[in-house]
Amino acid sequence: MLVRNPVTPPGYERLAGVVPIVHAPRMERSAANVRSILETGAGALSEVLVVEPLELEAMLISDEDWEQAPRETTYTYPPGLPYFTRSVHPPALVLPTTLSPTFQPQTKATYPLVVWHELAHAFLLQKEVVRTPAWLREFVSQASAAAIARRAGLPLAEHLNQIDRGPGFTIRALRGHVDAEEQMAFQNLLLLFGVAVLEEFGEGFLERLVHAMWEETNTVDEERAEELLANALGSGGRTWLRSRPEF
Ligand SMILES: [Zn+2]
Repeated sequence: MLVRNPVTPPGYERLAGVVPIVHAPRMERSAANVRSILETGAGALSEVLVVEPLELEAMLISDEDWEQAPRETTYTYPPGLPYFTRSVHPPALVLPTTLSPTFQPQTKATYPLVVWHELAHAFLLQKEVVRTPAWLREFVSQASAAAIARRAGLPLAEHLNQIDRGPGFTIRALRGHVDAEEQMAFQNLLLLFGVAVLEEFGEGFLERLVHAMWEETNTVDEERAEELLANALGSGGRTWLRSRPEF
């Protein structure tokens, strides 16, 4: 069910902006911070992906109101985990005022990276996308977040240095149900991989990859996913991918 003008919890306020923000009471400073993170991200993503700005809202929700946030299902999502939902119009990024401690490492870069990750999902899903392996969609989000950080001059070294570079699986091998810790290790491996791709090929591959994903009409299997990524990287892409232990 699509809800227009969703009912927000009592006392919530609205902050205008490129991405308007509905926020919990007494959260003006956090909302202003989120607005700045979103403006940086939306501007950079429009340029990197070569797309029009997106019609989108953000909701900054406190833990005690979390179950009132819009979502696709009837059961409440775990608190502290941001998500993107098309259950309302315009679609919304639902952001917690406090990030779940499962997000690791916790550095100055954590919150912006998490917000930009969800923002990239919103950009990808502005057009229909066929089924793909999860790693491909999550890679788009993590590489986009890293690309925005590069453009915004947000230093990532301290953050990246705290990531375990050998979690015992590759980005394509994590399947099925995984616990929160494995999910975090998977996302961190994708972030490291995204940074490596950006260093090797620059950010242009993101536009080619996202537009290629929009043009796909059949379910993308593992083989096709690798092909899409290799083609987006361009000359030498496939050889480089095969040389990467995390891939
Ligand atoms: Zn994601």
